Amino acid sequence: MRSIAIIGSTGSIGRQALDVVRANPQRFRVAALAAGSNVERLAQQANEFRPDLVCIGGATLTADLRSLLAYGPPEIVSGSEGLRRVAVGCGADVLLAASDGMAALHGVVEALASGKHVALANKELLVAAGHLLCPLARSAGATLVPVDSEHSAIFQCLQGEDPACVERVVITASGGPFYDLTGADLEWVTPKQALRHPVWSMGPKNSLDSATLMNKGLEVIEASYLFGLPPGRVEAVIHRQSLVHGLVFFCDGSVKAQLASPDMRLPIGYALAYPERVPEAVAEEETRRALGLAGAAASLTFEPVDATRFPAVSLACAALAKGPPYPAVLSAANEEAGRAFLRGQIRFTDICRLVERALASYAGPGRTLEDILAADRFGRASVREAIDAAVRH
Ligand code: MG
Repeated sequence: MRSIAIIGSTGSIGRQALDVVRANPQRFRVAALAAGSNVERLAQQANEFRPDLVCIGGATLTADLRSLLAYGPPEIVSGSEGLRRVAVGCGADVLLAASDGMAALHGVVEALASGKHVALANKELLVAAGHLLCPLARSAGATLVPVDSEHSAIFQCLQGEDPACVERVVITASGGPFYDLTGADLEWVTPKQALRHPVWSMGPKNSLDSATLMNKGLEVIEASYLFGLPPGRVEAVIHRQSLVHGLVFFCDGSVKAQLASPDMRLPIGYALAYPERVPEAVAEEETRRALGLAGAAASLTFEPVDATRFPAVSLACAALAKGPPYPAVLSAANEEAGRAFLRGQIRFTDICRLVERALASYAGPGRTLEDILAADRFGRASVREAIDAAVRH
């Protein structure tokens, strides 16, 4: 029996992780749940899984949370100190970090430093602080298993392999909802269209990032840090079928790929149970059958990313090549610009323009946690400033 602590339990990954736990009561137990502000859903989850520790973002929400709980958990905590308790103070075997943004940074650093098993789903953390988190995990003997499907694929392909024999890795992109649109059409797409992803079921942040392909840009950065490969040895390709999630090219000319149905519960189950596999991560027979070799997998296609229509991947590669904290500037500027697009303040194609502007106006470098948090603030402020200036003119 493995006990799990989840930071970000009410988000898309957190909910799917609880699906995996629910389908495997003999294998997993929930030790702690943490959410930012969704008190109702957190209470509902806590009432079902009965963890000893429940954490909510703001201290003002704890009374609401307590009133919605149908049992008396030994501890209700809040804020950043609460997150630390979830990360390292509740005795869980595995920490699943699945929140957005940087809130979980200190908790994840401490969990890795104490040698824990961390299933990492938080993209922004890895993009902004991967140069610190990954070496820390190695030196502390922590088990860091990526949850993102592409990185899970590469992680799986690397089992039993010598990292020195890896020539390059390739991650795949579905192409998103706007794969067929011309550059001119892209100017006028709406938030509603951008959030309608054809393949994956994700939260709004990841859905929008998949439409701009910034998701793939962020993932190139993640892969570079996770697998210790320089920028030129991580590549993204368009693969419309979304069945091959990652490929590893070895020095002897061999290529290993991982294939699976596009269902996040598979890489989540793998990251929670590693090094074991979970036979029942996905309960529905239908999802398992989807990867019959006669069906959708009968023909697999791969093509390069069109950098003119989708500049996000090149922007991310440039930020990665410049080194920390440029990836943090990129990620924060992208998050801020994405929100402005969803609010109807800017056009879809402005997102990458604003990210590019933020990167160009930043004067780094800086590698410490403080530098990263400052770069994060700079990226956001740069985007807000540009939008405010445009509104005034
Ligand atoms: Mg992904």
